[in-house]
Amino acid sequence: GSVIGILGGGQLGRMLAVAAAQLGYRTHVLAPDAESVAAQTASSYTRADYHSRIVLDEVADQTDVVTYEFENIAIGPVEYLSGKVPVRPGPQSLSIAQDRAREKAFVAALGGRTAPWASVSTLEEFKAAIREIGAPAILKTLRLGYDGKGQVRIRDAAEVEAAWADIGERPAILEGFVTFSHEFSIITVRGLDGALTSYPPPWNEHKDGILARSTLPAPAEIARHWAEAATLAGRVAEALGHVGVLTLEFFATEDGPVFNEMAPRVHNSGHWTIEGAETSQFENHIRAICGLPLGSTALTGSHVEMINLIGSDADQWPELLAEPATHLHLYGKGNARPGRKMGHLTRVRR
Ligand code: ATP
Ligand code: MG
Ligand code: MG
Repeated sequence: GSVIGILGGGQLGRMLAVAAAQLGYRTHVLAPDAESVAAQTASSYTRADYHSRIVLDEVADQTDVVTYEFENIAIGPVEYLSGKVPVRPGPQSLSIAQDRAREKAFVAALGGRTAPWASVSTLEEFKAAIREIGAPAILKTLRLGYDGKGQVRIRDAAEVEAAWADIGERPAILEGFVTFSHEFSIITVRGLDGALTSYPPPWNEHKDGILARSTLPAPAEIARHWAEAATLAGRVAEALGHVGVLTLEFFATEDGPVFNEMAPRVHNSGHWTIEGAETSQFENHIRAICGLPLGSTALTGSHVEMINLIGSDADQWPELLAEPATHLHLYGKGNARPGRKMGHLTRVRR
């Protein structure tokens, strides 16, 4: 059988490795240490030194196709690898999705709506951007942000200096604050042959900038934007030449769906698909990158809910299983820090 390389050692890599094993593939994980949760589940593992050609050559030698489970990896090593082994999705998807300015411009050029935004690389530019966009607004680092990290909300122009210091004076974008009723995501999959499919959109509720819960079917305020958002996501996947899962996050507003950000990978808001869809996002990602036909994205029940188990929720886990229809997923992370995603649970009502 073939070997799939996975760059990154988190829970997404772990769930990809499980899906790959079910389809008869072995996985080789490149991760910081053998205790990484994905490495524990993979067939083999190389310690991550993304900038070492020796390490990358070893990964290329041992794999038939390479994918990634996080986008905060330098583009250089991924481009180097893609010269030796197919990397899916390709470096183009990665380079756009890891830069908030590029992803917003890319999606806007394809007809997507975004919040008003401006690139900010100095305090002077930040002040000019606040004058143009106004407050409230959100300052986000251009790169490397996740789970609301690297973001500051600005209620008033007087907070500019403190906000600039807060994000470490790094290149950033300033976004106008969007008034929305709900958040949702489109999880789309593009096959090696260009086939496109997407899942019904989950309603995503966040707490402290972190996804707390996804619910399906989505309420009417989201459902009315479904077709427009899914069409846009398909267009983005095609324009990127993307192969695999691509996730776009949206705000549901009076004016239509407003694009927030994208991830060139399986996504936390798609974890419900393991039990709640005919084919999980992880299996469909593996199918796509291995050139297999894509599976059905239909719901398996009338109602599906995914709840993230974050940080200190740990003590409640055993009692959660007292409810027989609850599926518990624990990621095998040792230390529960506040804000750390430790697992999730899914409930499907038939
Ligand atoms: P993720 O973990 O999803 O990658 P992230 O750190 O990249 O998160 P965003 O998705 O950009 O951050 O923002 C996190 C949350 O903050 C959003 O889901 C939304 O609730 C809120 N938010 C972000 N940008 C805006 C905006 N322009 N207007 C209103 N709310 C926003
Ligand atoms: Mg993000
Ligand atoms: Mg987000």
